[in-house]
Amino acid sequence: EAKYNSPKYFRVFNQKLHSRVRKTIEIEQILTNEFDPEELVVQYQPIIDLEQRRLAGFEALVRWQNPRLGYLFPDQFLPVAEEIGIISKIDEAVLELTCANIAQWRQQTTALDHIRVSVNLSQNELVDLNLAQRIIKTVERYGLKPSDLAIEVTESALMSNVRFGKRILMDLRESGIGIHIDDFGTGYSSFGHLADLPFDVLKVDKSFLLQAHESVQRMTVLEALVRMSKSLEIPVVVEGVEEREHLDLVCALGCRYGQGYHFAKPIDRDKVVDFAETFSFA
Ligand code: C2E
Ligand code: MG
Ligand code: MG
Ligand code: MG
Repeated sequence: EAKYNSPKYFRVFNQKLHSRVRKTIEIEQILTNEFDPEELVVQYQPIIDLEQRRLAGFEALVRWQNPRLGYLFPDQFLPVAEEIGIISKIDEAVLELTCANIAQWRQQTTALDHIRVSVNLSQNELVDLNLAQRIIKTVERYGLKPSDLAIEVTESALMSNVRFGKRILMDLRESGIGIHIDDFGTGYSSFGHLADLPFDVLKVDKSFLLQAHESVQRMTVLEALVRMSKSLEIPVVVEGVEEREHLDLVCALGCRYGQGYHFAKPIDRDKVVDFAETFSFA
């Protein structure tokens, strides 16, 4: 349309694009030359057991606080970190911080005794056959039980590394560490593909719930995913429970777990104990 062809629109668009590209280049330079894992911050988002109406665990989500770049969210720097090959350093730092935090929280309260915290793994790591052993060692080093931790890998990451991925998941499973398949429904696999992979929980991507009310198609797929998981006895976490109506919907569908802003946004590590002690399902 006329607007999009006008010189003014083009100039504004061009400036925006230009500053985005410049920021990405700056991120890349800093990550490459002076990345400091001490600048990483981990927030924790509650995962709620909708059947038992209690806190089931948390997901660890990384942020990067850099003096020059400011406070960055994963989507802004993880793709760059993957590209330049330092993503495993970040995931390792997040695992260390998470284990240290669990150990600290446990000294402050018993409200977290039965919860499990999950950390995300990049697809680049599913090529490392020592990965499972490294994770298990870290958990032990902090005096935690394997059942205190879970890992999250996306469906598409697994599908692009099926052979190694399966081996790694089997090793983790055997140790007692939990396994979440993340962003389920956005890749190209099916329940059939999952059948011979070991895992504990499927996390249905938030796009399904967030669009369920506008898109009949999304709603139908969400219903089908939940129904099929139930008949296969696979527990499901539905992401993106933002509103009361989302919660009503996932409860009506019979989903076991929910995660989203309705319960809590990702919270700072020093707020976790208080959250766990005061949480009540409403
Ligand atoms: P994810 O693993 O699917 O994590 C869920 C994302 O959804 C988080 O975004 C969370 O803040 C957001 N979210 C939670 N509830 C709601 C909601 O109700 N509504 C909406 N609109 N969003 C919600 P975040 O923290 O920006 O993380 C984005 C992605 O970055 C994560 O998606 C995960 O794939 C990746 N990531 C985060 N931390 C790490 C990490 O330590 N290592 C790796 N490899 N990836 C990570
Ligand atoms: Mg995740
Ligand atoms: Mg997810
Ligand atoms: Mg996601």
